[in-house]
Amino acid sequence: MIELSGFHNAMATFNNKTILVCGGAGFIGSNFIHYILENYQKVKLVNLDKLTYSGNLDNLKDISKDRRYGFIKGDIADEKIITKVFKKHKPDYVINLAAETHVDRSIHVGALEFIKTNIQGVFNILEAVKQNKKIIKYLQVSTDEVFGTLSLDSKEKFNEKTAFDPNVPYAATKAGGDLLCNAYHTTWKVPVVVTHCSNNYGPYQYPEKLIPFFTVRMLEGKKLPLYGDGKNVRDWIYVIDHCRALELVLLNGVSGEVYNIGADNELSNLEIAMMIAKQFGKGKESFEFVPDRPGHDRRYAIDSAKIEMELGWKTVYSFERAFQETVKWYKNNTVWIKKIQKKTGVFNPHIDLWKKHNLKPAIKN
Ligand code: NAD
Repeated sequence: MIELSGFHNAMATFNNKTILVCGGAGFIGSNFIHYILENYQKVKLVNLDKLTYSGNLDNLKDISKDRRYGFIKGDIADEKIITKVFKKHKPDYVINLAAETHVDRSIHVGALEFIKTNIQGVFNILEAVKQNKKIIKYLQVSTDEVFGTLSLDSKEKFNEKTAFDPNVPYAATKAGGDLLCNAYHTTWKVPVVVTHCSNNYGPYQYPEKLIPFFTVRMLEGKKLPLYGDGKNVRDWIYVIDHCRALELVLLNGVSGEVYNIGADNELSNLEIAMMIAKQFGKGKESFEFVPDRPGHDRRYAIDSAKIEMELGWKTVYSFERAFQETVKWYKNNTVWIKKIQKKTGVFNPHIDLWKKHNLKPAIKN
């Protein structure tokens, strides 16, 4: 991970407070836990995670014995567990990063687990926060995907007033959770804030997602499969810049408000693939174009003006450097990758389905 300290500029503090982190064994959750422990000497962190295929305690091995940290295996969709954890640990702050997160799975495997975790799980947390008046704030971490899609030739960006228009089951379930948060604040003044962030990159991401997936494919000498024409655009943010924003929103964000988080760093999948191949001394001979995913949003872009102006947040990591370091991290952590592969099997098996069905790729090399 890239070392960069002294940039957390929150006005309040987590010292002498307990934060309940739901989903702390995942990609963003584990980075968030590392970041908070690095910056707050007297914090107490409780990590509640179901350890689904994407949850990985190896992400937290280095801090597992830290006296400020504790782990509980449990499902946020299980009301009894939520009640027990809130009663026992009496958190001051709650942040929910527990989610089913992979769009492709929500299409190829089904949406039921997404509905349970991303809607029922959020409902259980909201109910617990409603009943525990000690809680200062609950931050529900959400995604820009709830806003639907933008066209490649527009300059439009999603802001906090953009209407939800989800196109895939994953995004629809995230939107459901977000709407419940809004309703619980309006109806009962539950102190909840929601954030919508763009695509994150960094260490500890389960290798079904674009950057680690393509890096693993390069390591295995396989082609990089690009959906459609490869021109779908995402706004890429380094995960620690996202964690810094979450820290600020949890401490200083106004209950009932929504904050969008992005890095103004729009890149197509093709450009990302090119940068990864380059780090292996390769070029576009490493690509293959495969039929597009149904409901594939064309472009996402985030307007972060509100969090910048109201909470004083801005990105501090250089994309070029953080991206290179990220790819390098996966190249240097093949033991971490192999261990997951052994446990969960082939990453993104559905990508190869088009071959089995003898479909033609959308575009030839
Ligand atoms: P991830 O898939 O890496 O991690 C999810 C974690 O949640 C895992 O540790 C998993 O075990 C846990 N989990 C899943 N279901 C659970 C349940 N029912 N109860 C308890 N734990 C459960 O995901 P991530 O990329 O770290 O995403 C975290 C959050 O950030 C999600 O809400 C996602 O929508 C949001 N987000 C992610 C990105 C991104 O680019 N990764 C961008 C914007 C927003």
